Amino acid sequence: MTVDAIVVGAGPAGSAAATVLARKGYSVILLERGSFPGSKNMYGGVVYPRILDQLHPQWWNEAPIQRWITRRSTMVLTDTQALTVDFRSASWGQPPYNGATAYRPDWDHWLASKAEADGAQLVCSTTATGLLRDGSGQVVGVTTDRPDGDLHAKVVIACDGVNSFLAKEAGLYGDVDAANYTVGVKETIALPKHVIDERFGVRDREGVDIEILGGTSGVNGGGFVYTNFDTLAVGVVLKLPKLAAQKLRPEEIIANLKAHPGIAPLVEGGEIKEYSAHVIPEAGLSMMPKMTGDGMLVAGDAAALCLAAGIWLEGVNFAMASGMYAAEAAAEALAANDTSAAGLAGYERRLNDTFVLRDHRKLRRAPSLVLSDRVQHLYPHMIANTVERMFRVDNPAPKPGLRRVLNEERKRAGVKLKDLASDALDGLRSFG
Ligand SMILES: Cc1cc2nc3c(=O)[nH]c(=O)nc-3n(C[C@H](O)[C@H](O)[C@H](O)COP(=O)(O)OP(=O)(O)OC[C@H]3O[C@@H](n4cnc5c(N)ncnc54)[C@H](O)[C@@H]3O)c2cc1C
Repeated sequence: MTVDAIVVGAGPAGSAAATVLARKGYSVILLERGSFPGSKNMYGGVVYPRILDQLHPQWWNEAPIQRWITRRSTMVLTDTQALTVDFRSASWGQPPYNGATAYRPDWDHWLASKAEADGAQLVCSTTATGLLRDGSGQVVGVTTDRPDGDLHAKVVIACDGVNSFLAKEAGLYGDVDAANYTVGVKETIALPKHVIDERFGVRDREGVDIEILGGTSGVNGGGFVYTNFDTLAVGVVLKLPKLAAQKLRPEEIIANLKAHPGIAPLVEGGEIKEYSAHVIPEAGLSMMPKMTGDGMLVAGDAAALCLAAGIWLEGVNFAMASGMYAAEAAAEALAANDTSAAGLAGYERRLNDTFVLRDHRKLRRAPSLVLSDRVQHLYPHMIANTVERMFRVDNPAPKPGLRRVLNEERKRAGVKLKDLASDALDGLRSFG
């Protein structure tokens, strides 16, 4: 039997792709190695599902949400200091909402059930182990770990996540460099809902997203604290070569973060319910593969489409969008009876025309800037010390001027003026 499409991986990318194809009337198998969609998946915890307006209008009425993000904070930590920029919007707590915390087993399960309801055939506990090709080299299906498990299709969409074996086997990736990856580790910490509400200053289903620069025990990366209904997600994202070059284990780095005076009062008394870890394709545009081959497309983390740019860590929305666009292009190609790379070119066009690649292009300098040694190790001290001196009352001395203090702290932190200017320019180009 040959189906129209096989989608490998029932994460956000795969389920979105399968939904689009099934709705257009194509036969589609959605393969998932886990015992159910989401069973093997982890992330920090915040989804930005605006893109779902197109796929599941009014998704907020049924999606399995923990809390709506109504506060976003960015924290800069040194060993003893914490500077927080905190933003709150009441409108984010109302339809059509902005972001939400959700558990991945719930979210992925829900999204896959929508694909099934639209006619996709979900096959769990089945791992795609390789690609099937015809005489011309075109991908015509996948092998699986089931006996007699070869599956034939006119097009394969690889949504198998970071380290996509299928995309590598298809030759879509060049050399793999560990410096392009971070490892994210997370603890899920239980606390009564009313305690979370009080500590984070929220009510009902309101929730908080805290992104952290610093607090990673000297390893380049970042941290986060997110509120679920009655748990917190506390984690760190660590640059792989930097992690390997020192002695601390990731769980010790989380423990240090939780002991920081700015974080400890938030997590105090909580009970660790879960510890999980996963790799993130962090380098953005510079590490992306070719998006199409003959008979094959690659979407989501498998295509390194996760956006990790300091104040933004967004992967689920990029995965859902790229899955949708891959499926639209696949449907076009199926209708034209041409699933060669040329026939599938509509995918790259869609990625280029939308936020998926536009954001990545605009923020192409951000991942390396944010993870650079200066941003990680020098600027937090320079900024926090400057703020500390501006707020310190040193009477009888008069108040110092900001320019003088900043310049002194820049020198004390060992930041050269030309480096500061060049980083500021990169920052402006990226975030401006
Ligand atoms: C620590 C951490 C924190 C993060 N925080 C956030 C956040 O807060 N917000 C956000 O938006 N993003 C976040 N991300 C990124 C986000 O998790 C990913 O970008 C997103 O999950 C990508 O979705 P995907 O569908 O492409 O891949 P995945 O979610 O990885 O799904 C891939 C699926 O394919 C299945 N699979 C893999 N190989 C096979 C195979 N051979 N055969 C069959 N099935 C297979 C897997 O079991 C899985 O279900 C975070 C990531 C990490 C690691």
